[in-house]
Amino acid sequence: MFSTMQDVPLTVARILEHGSTIHGRATVTTWTEQGPSVRTFAEIGARAAQLAHAIRDELGMTRDSVLATLMWNNADHLEAYLAVPAMGSVLHTLNLRLPAAQLAFIINHAADHAIIVSGSVLPMLAGVLPQLAPTLRHIVVSGEGDRTLLAGFAGTVHDYEELIAGRPTTFPWEREIDERRPAMICYTSGTTGDPKGVVYSHRSIYLHCLQVNSAATFALTPQDTALPVVPMFHVGAWGVPHAAFMSGSNLLMPDRFLQPQPLATMIDLVRPTVSAAVPTIWNGLLDELDHPTARETPYDTSSLRMVVIGGSACPPALMRGFEERHGIKVVHAWGMTETSPLGTFALPPAGLSEQEEWRYRITQGVFPASVEARLSGPDGERMPHDGVSAGELEVRGPWIAGAYYGGAGQEPERPEDKFTEDGWLRTGDVGTITPDGFLTLTDRAKDVIKSGGEWISSVELENHLMAHPQVAEAAVVAVPDQKWGERPLATVVLRPGATVDLAALRAFLAERVASWQLPERWALVEAVPKTSVGKFDKKVIRAAYAADELA
Ligand code: ADP
Repeated sequence: MFSTMQDVPLTVARILEHGSTIHGRATVTTWTEQGPSVRTFAEIGARAAQLAHAIRDELGMTRDSVLATLMWNNADHLEAYLAVPAMGSVLHTLNLRLPAAQLAFIINHAADHAIIVSGSVLPMLAGVLPQLAPTLRHIVVSGEGDRTLLAGFAGTVHDYEELIAGRPTTFPWEREIDERRPAMICYTSGTTGDPKGVVYSHRSIYLHCLQVNSAATFALTPQDTALPVVPMFHVGAWGVPHAAFMSGSNLLMPDRFLQPQPLATMIDLVRPTVSAAVPTIWNGLLDELDHPTARETPYDTSSLRMVVIGGSACPPALMRGFEERHGIKVVHAWGMTETSPLGTFALPPAGLSEQEEWRYRITQGVFPASVEARLSGPDGERMPHDGVSAGELEVRGPWIAGAYYGGAGQEPERPEDKFTEDGWLRTGDVGTITPDGFLTLTDRAKDVIKSGGEWISSVELENHLMAHPQVAEAAVVAVPDQKWGERPLATVVLRPGATVDLAALRAFLAERVASWQLPERWALVEAVPKTSVGKFDKKVIRAAYAADELA
């Protein structure tokens, strides 16, 4: 027997066409120096068409070319997000906080033909120009910026507005191309070794969008205004921009205004309903909401129905702080570049008391139907999903990577430490899964503290410390120990005006964890070092300790 259903490819072109017509009145508000600037989805669609004409006719982009963006979250970036895959080419989002050597590496590795760059980050691009391969032919500057910095570039420099001006506002989008063709490349942030490229297909983006829009996660609708604080270069802003175009949710784009004060101001004025970011950003925002820096009255955050936090473990104290002091519901989620990124989302089952709900809400969340998960023990054995047995998390599904990009004309790479023989992704995350599918991560495999044959969760110690009212941030790492192999080192950032000392913090922690888990080594630091996507950079802390830089 055959199924009797139509075989319609799931393509980004469909998302673009749907959003710019059916949801043509929805808006994208970009925050600027002068305040909000608004474009409708219809205008975005028309400008995306102009961009497609320009990059095909003037920049010579073909189906196999890659166009990169080095941009903040804004309306121009969204136009590239839609236009490039919808015309059948590939979009490569560049992380504008990567170290120069890695930025040059990924531009060359992906053989980027052109880059659209936000004017304000031109100095960064200019700094890597000498390291770039001649495959890069065009640079398009969006917004204000000092173009003389590009004087040494051998290719052509364009202005975004001049490039698209006067071109047709419709385009024969590639609705019917093979849904398995590449649409977007995103590189991991390369915390160990060179960054690895994950190539999303039209199909994986489309299915992931449906998940972002489902009631099991963000549930975006035309009544929403989504504020992706997570950058569009960090796993496609978790799928929110494409998903908004599919569902008709309005967008509020923060551009480069990612500091707590402008974020709180734009929430107060533009009234988003949903937002998403990593914990460090929300930590800063919570401080600003608690103690506004330049106003007498509290910010109005009542529009927010949900704030999604993921990318690293969200301290429960942060979730409670938002909810109890500001009525903002925080939902915890887990994912990675290799998982598009939606892996789990912590919405509790129905019919629970508030206290029981919290037990679910502080987990990383539950796997959706499309993502299968299993735990692999120390010897590769399957661990039961009993909520207790820990193992390395392995996942499989239609928006999960099965390989890394090998470079132009090369075979995909499937390193053994990242992919199992039967094709599952090894996440490098260690945790437990309950019988009803909720994941709790105790650590990254490389961050877990192995002390005398027992594992100590750095995340658990951090969560307890960050629940102390005078602690702003705390990062715990493993350091070598003669007797135990490894022991925890706690680094702590105090809030301004704090009076607590390390002995008192140790006593505070001693009331909450087993005595053998208590760190002997402590250091007060000015700030916890962060990676290019704002996560605690434990590699740097371990190196500082090894170099005797931490008391
Ligand atoms: P990078 O690997 O360079 O940090 P990713 O953004 O892909 O870039 O990071 C994915 C990793 O981030 C996951 O493997 C996991 O270790 C961590 N992570 C993501 N979300 C969470 C979360 N909610 N809790 C704990 N860790 C998380």
